[in-house]
Amino acid sequence: MHELRRNPVPAANADSPAADSPAADFPVSAPANAPKVGFVSLGCPKALVDSEQILTQLRAEGYETAKSYDGADLVIVNTCGFIDAAVQESLDAIGEALAENGKVIVTGCLGAKKDASGQDIVMKVHPKVLAVTGPHAVAEVMNSVHTHLPKPHEPFFDLVPDHGVKLTPKHYAYLKISEGCNHRCSFCIIPSMRGDLVSRPIGELMIEAENLFKAGVKELLVISQDTSAYGVDVKFRSGFWNGRPVKTHMTQLVEALAQLAKQYGAWVRLHYVYPYPHVDQVIPLMGNGHVLPYLDIPLQHAHPDVLKRMKRPASGEKNLDRIQAWRAINPELTIRSTFIAGFPGETEAEFDYLLDFLKEAQIDRLGCFAYSPVEGAAANALPDPVPEEVREERRARVMLLQEEISAKRLQAKVGKTVRVLVDEVNTREAIGRSAADAPEIDGVVHIKRSLAPGKKLAVGQFADVLVSKADAHDLWATVA
Ligand code: SF4
Repeated sequence: MHELRRNPVPAANADSPAADSPAADFPVSAPANAPKVGFVSLGCPKALVDSEQILTQLRAEGYETAKSYDGADLVIVNTCGFIDAAVQESLDAIGEALAENGKVIVTGCLGAKKDASGQDIVMKVHPKVLAVTGPHAVAEVMNSVHTHLPKPHEPFFDLVPDHGVKLTPKHYAYLKISEGCNHRCSFCIIPSMRGDLVSRPIGELMIEAENLFKAGVKELLVISQDTSAYGVDVKFRSGFWNGRPVKTHMTQLVEALAQLAKQYGAWVRLHYVYPYPHVDQVIPLMGNGHVLPYLDIPLQHAHPDVLKRMKRPASGEKNLDRIQAWRAINPELTIRSTFIAGFPGETEAEFDYLLDFLKEAQIDRLGCFAYSPVEGAAANALPDPVPEEVREERRARVMLLQEEISAKRLQAKVGKTVRVLVDEVNTREAIGRSAADAPEIDGVVHIKRSLAPGKKLAVGQFADVLVSKADAHDLWATVA
C-alpha cells in the first residue's frame, strides 16, 4: 500500500480525531459503499484552507477520504505554483498520483499557471489528468468530482436535489450573485443589515445555474442588491468554470450565462443593474435570444440634486443618453425602473424635471413609491420633508403618466409575433410572459386557447404568439 504524500486529513495529522475515525466529525457514518477520495495538499496556508473546504464539502456530501492511493477511487492534488521548486514538487505529486491511482483532479495555484506560450503547465506535463482548476475553486472541484466519481444514490443522504429546494415554479428560478451592498443610499438601511458587498464565486454560480437548467428551469433571474458591482469586493479575481478562467465580473458572468442558456434553450433576465459604463458591453449580448433584452434599473429619480441627496450610485451618469444609446443598439430592449416621489426636499421644479425625464425616457415598466421614512435611514434627518398628501399626489401623477406611456408602448406590439414562456394554463386561456415581462412585477400575455385549435400549451413551454390586443399592462395573443 502506497501512502498519499501529504494528506491533511488522515496522514499528516495523526492526532486528528478524523485520522482514525471517519465518523468522528459527523453524527452519522458515511454509507458503507461511499466513494473514496484521496487528497494531496501542498502549498501555503491559503491553499490549506482551500483543501479544508473541499474536504468539508466531500464529507458533507457523503464521500469518504482514503489514506492510500490504492484505497482511493480518485485523487485530488491541491498544488502550489509559487517558486520553481514548489512547481516541481506539485508536478511530481501529480505524476505520482497518476502512476499510483490513475484518476486525478488538480486544483490550486499551479492549475492557473501557464508557460511562456500560454499553455496550461499542468495539462502540458500531465495531459491525463481529469480536470484542472485554479485556487479557491471548491464548487468547480466538486463539479469535477461529481462527473468522474458520482455517488450512488443514498436515500438518507440525498434528500436535497442538486439545484436545492426552490420556492419558485419549476420553470423559473432566481440566481443570487452577491449579498450586501457597498453603497449608502440615504433612504436605505440594507447595508446596515446585510453589510458590504460579498460576491459569490463565479464557478459556484455557474454550477448552480447549470444544475437549475438541468432541473428544467427555462428562465433564470439574476438578482443582487447591485448586479453591476458584481466582483468589486474581490477585485474581479478569476474563478474557474468549464476548466477555464472566468473573471468575477458582471460582463463575464453574463457571457458565461449566455453560453449556458443557449446550450439548454433557456432565458436569462438581469435585475438591479445600475447604469455604469460597463453595462454598455452587456447590451450586445442581448441579441442572442438567451440573455433577454430587459434591464431592471432602479433609477429612483432623475434630478441630479435629488439623486445627490439620495446618495445614489451612478448618479452622475447621463441616464437619458445611456438609455437612448442602448435602445439604438437593441431596439427591443425593455427597461423597468422604480422611482420615489416626494423625497425630502423635492421641490415642484425637481418633480417636474422627473416627469419630463419620464416623458423623454419612455420607460417600459415602472413602479413609483411615495417616499416613506424607514427607521434608521439617513434621509429622515434631511430638511424640508414633503407632506404626505403631496408625496401621494406626486406618486399618482407619475403613475398616470406611466399608464399613457405603457399603453402606447404595448400598443406598438399589436400585430407582432412575440415569444412567450407559459406560466399557467387554465380552462379559458394560457398565461405567458414575453422578454418584456418579469414574473410577479410586470404584465403578462393572455393567450386565447379557443383561437388555437389543436395547439396545446404546457407550463414551462416556449411559444410564439401573435399579439392582437393591448392595454396599459398586458397583451392578448393567439398562438402564431
Ligand atoms: S438602495 Fe442603495 S444602499 Fe440600498 S441596497 Fe440599493 S444600492 Fe445599496
